Amino acid sequence: MTDSKILIVDDDVFIRDVLQTRLEWEGYHTAVAENGRQALELHRQDKADLILLDINMPVTDGFEVMKQLRAEADTTPVIVMSALEDIPSIVHCIELGAEDYISKPIKSQLLYARIHSSLEKKAFRDREQMRLAELKLLRQIDRALHTTLDLDEVAALTLTYAQQKTGALAGLAGSVGDNSLHIRAQTGVVDGSLDTAVPLKALALDIAHDEIRQQPVRANESLHPKATFRLVLPIRRNNIINDMVVLDLAEPCDDASLSFLQQLGTYAAISSHNARLYANAQAANLAKSNFVAMVSHELKNPLAAVQTSVHLLKRTSAGQLSEKQEKYIHIIDDSVQRIRNLTLELDDITRMDTGHFKLSLTQLNLPTVVANVVRLLAQQIEAKKQQLTVNLPPDLPLVYGDEQRLSQILTNLISNAHKYTGDGQEIKIDAHVAEQEAGRFVQITVQDSGIGISSENQKHIFSQFFRVNEAMVRQQQGTGLGLYITKRLVEAQNGQIGFHSTVGKGSRFFFSIPVAMTDNGFASDTTVTAAAAK
Ligand code: ATP
Ligand code: MG
Repeated sequence: MTDSKILIVDDDVFIRDVLQTRLEWEGYHTAVAENGRQALELHRQDKADLILLDINMPVTDGFEVMKQLRAEADTTPVIVMSALEDIPSIVHCIELGAEDYISKPIKSQLLYARIHSSLEKKAFRDREQMRLAELKLLRQIDRALHTTLDLDEVAALTLTYAQQKTGALAGLAGSVGDNSLHIRAQTGVVDGSLDTAVPLKALALDIAHDEIRQQPVRANESLHPKATFRLVLPIRRNNIINDMVVLDLAEPCDDASLSFLQQLGTYAAISSHNARLYANAQAANLAKSNFVAMVSHELKNPLAAVQTSVHLLKRTSAGQLSEKQEKYIHIIDDSVQRIRNLTLELDDITRMDTGHFKLSLTQLNLPTVVANVVRLLAQQIEAKKQQLTVNLPPDLPLVYGDEQRLSQILTNLISNAHKYTGDGQEIKIDAHVAEQEAGRFVQITVQDSGIGISSENQKHIFSQFFRVNEAMVRQQQGTGLGLYITKRLVEAQNGQIGFHSTVGKGSRFFFSIPVAMTDNGFASDTTVTAAAAK
């Protein structure tokens, strides 16, 4: 603590000289000022660790110095020096934040003791401050690292924080594999960019050492000509080094920085592990999408062949079919159609998952689209003697969407209403304009008086392959993909979908689609790749 710097402020040259001589003799560094103004100037230029402050001085007195320090949130400890009888001034200075006081004439032993104790308290406070700042920084780092699932970003963030803390001249961060460092981020490397993978040997790295360490670095191995030390931070998880940070420094790091880096390494290990898990899940999902796409593609040709053969058989030219044969042909035809529908649904999902799903957006007349869908479903609705009522307001504005996809949404919802409603029951379709924060929408509702959906099942209704486990549902054809695709199709066209349902009473599904506007971007026909559908 004796190398601390003490600023002596007194208008009495004799006191200044005596104090300076004694304190320097004790090993302190000193600076002197003959009044408050000079003291503040000196202190602002080069901060003292402690100020010995006289109270009564010309130009700027001790009170003013205390006020200024407080205004500048400067916490340097101040020991005020004053005649013993001037108690009110001492008290006032203490109120203004002075740490301690000493009475004149000054007793050396007492002065040293007070200086020592004030400096000790200051060192303790400084350490606390540093620890607090470090905790704050670590929290910030933790948050930043947790918000990314990208390995390159984790490496870049880790390297940035490590460099900031150590003042490294240059650094690398990357993954370890095949005896090489696969560089994901680099900074300050003087020889320009390094290759993406550098053999660990070339960097004088060794994964046998799994602790943080620093060692002198040879000029031909360093990343920066002024670097003399290399610090290596292995980033481990389950005792395997997956990543590494390499920092080249002008001088070795202190212990505080090393323990900070160790903590940083712990955070980075968790984040890079998460990023790897995410990347693996993405890769597995892509592999699944590619496999589904391949299977669906391979099914199409044989399906088409079966379908064509069935049509040929149905034609009388292929010979008269018996009633039994006709029944079997009908079963084949029906089953082929089901598989074909499934391949089309799987194609949609694959396109959505891989970002290749395209929409062709135009202005559409909703009543026409609804009428076309209803016409195609009329026969099966009629077969169950259900009453379908379409009630659309005559002044409905044009909507902005993809005609084929809008028809698909309506088909799925009306077909569900039809399938999960008993014979002779009612299905209603209506629409109205809804003003929402995001703009004007037409909201279309498909209401049935069917079996309804329990609140437990409602939670899963938009999940892939979900079907309610009930006899009435099992009797109906379906894969459980309809609502999953429907939701994504609605959202890809900037709408929203929802429903209300009561068991035994029926369900009401509703979705919105934007109103076509003539004075904004919605006006023109566009083709968009519906990344939003992901
Ligand atoms: P498909 O993929 O052929 O549409 P699906 O109709 O079974 O098959 P979804 O449309 O996704 O699949 O519906 C999922 C499940 O939600 C249905 O199996 C059914 O159990 C329930 N469900 C959907 N719509 C209704 C409805 N209107 N009334 C009652 N239950 C419904
Ligand atoms: Mg369905």
